[in-house]
Amino acid sequence: MSRSRSQRNFFRRMVIAAMAAATAVAGPAAQAQGISLLRDAEIEKYLEDYSWPIFEAAGLPPSSIEILIVNDQSINAFAGGRYMGMNSGMITFVETPNELEAVIAHEAGHLKANHSTRTQDAASNAGVPMLVGLVLAAGAVAAGAPDAGLGLFSLGQTVGTANFLKYSRGQESTADQLSITFLDRVGHSSQGALDLWGRMRNSQIITGNRINPYFQTHPMANTRLSALKERAQESPYFEKEDSPEEIHRLRLIQAKIKGFLQEPNQTLREYPLSDQSEPAHYARSIAHYKYSDIENALKEVRTLTEAHPDNPYYRELEGQILFEYGRTLESIEPHRRTIELVPDNALFRINLGRALLGAGGPEQLQEAEQELKRATILERDNSYAWFELARVYGAQGKEPLADLATAESRFHLGAKADANRFARRAMRGIRRGTPEWRQAADIIMATQPEGGGQPLPTGVEEDAPKPLPAPEEKSDRPDVPDPIVINEGGR
Ligand SMILES: [Zn+2]
Repeated sequence: MSRSRSQRNFFRRMVIAAMAAATAVAGPAAQAQGISLLRDAEIEKYLEDYSWPIFEAAGLPPSSIEILIVNDQSINAFAGGRYMGMNSGMITFVETPNELEAVIAHEAGHLKANHSTRTQDAASNAGVPMLVGLVLAAGAVAAGAPDAGLGLFSLGQTVGTANFLKYSRGQESTADQLSITFLDRVGHSSQGALDLWGRMRNSQIITGNRINPYFQTHPMANTRLSALKERAQESPYFEKEDSPEEIHRLRLIQAKIKGFLQEPNQTLREYPLSDQSEPAHYARSIAHYKYSDIENALKEVRTLTEAHPDNPYYRELEGQILFEYGRTLESIEPHRRTIELVPDNALFRINLGRALLGAGGPEQLQEAEQELKRATILERDNSYAWFELARVYGAQGKEPLADLATAESRFHLGAKADANRFARRAMRGIRRGTPEWRQAADIIMATQPEGGGQPLPTGVEEDAPKPLPAPEEKSDRPDVPDPIVINEGGR
């Protein structure tokens, strides 16, 4: 399956404070703080596997929709523009994959019916620069933010706003009806919708005190549930159930999310040692990891890697544990294995690249460079991959390339002025006409301030390949970058 996606706008930032921000209160204050997102190869793959067939059934090109995993344990999901957001809390709340499919199909209904124009407008106005923030997994643990272990990213207000979109009852009914159509088309039941809405509604009535955001954003009138029921039961697939394998896969995802996002104590209570299931080993390994109990963390995950040597996600966790606790050399092998198993995953390539960079020998740096370059090809706008690539170039003494990679990293973070500055600096050391030179020129052109800004080099020429000046000469002239074409609005 191709993983090429539309642009990703996730950035690096420590966002522990923002993690809970979007949770409970709907209002301007919460919106302003935005939401934080998770990046995780396993959960992303899981959601894609369930979403893409539904998107296709809806006539929505899957590659045009970005699935966001929102780091928020409240029960919510949203869709708008080219995004579908799924709270981690929704993933742990559902009891079956079919219930999760019901949510995906319902949100696809909103997308298909174009219900969230507000979000769409916000997103198109925002563009890259307004979308802020991320933290990445790794590093965050060392920085005293173990909750960030899964790979936290934060979008800014744009998508945060979507969290608080409220649909009308009419829109809800439309999305419901469409959701059943889509599920019929993929040959799956809508039973999950009835179970999920019914359960959420009951828990709302019984507990009373806990606001369920999904109910706020997707109002559930009595008539809506009965209309849904009537239609769902007509489907020839109504009786169709999830296979044990599918349920098992969901349990693993849930164990992982709980492991990373819950208090370790709670996780260890929920998955006691007497539980020798795969999800229990998984959750306990992560809980121990968060407790800095590396021996038990490794013991639990190695129970899994030994029994399931071809599971890339168990290997990834093993590598992550080793790397985060300073066993860098040992972490290389598990990370290498994840790539043998899943060659086209940028996150796996970044993991391996970081481990190799940490190891630091010349051969390892060269391999790190290759891995991180691959990651930036797989996810062109992954600013973290560029950032790590810049570190590798720095360690290799390739300063101009380090500047160029930094420029890319800053560009994809939306920091235009920085990107412009680093790209200009990079150009001074890069041979004119090379792909890297053009890459730097592209960044400068794309980040040139409206109406001029910083003075531009005069004597503008075409950037077509030209005979190269002697490279040695360049390093002696640390003055201005070569002239480039600045053609505002012309690209
Ligand atoms: Zn809805």
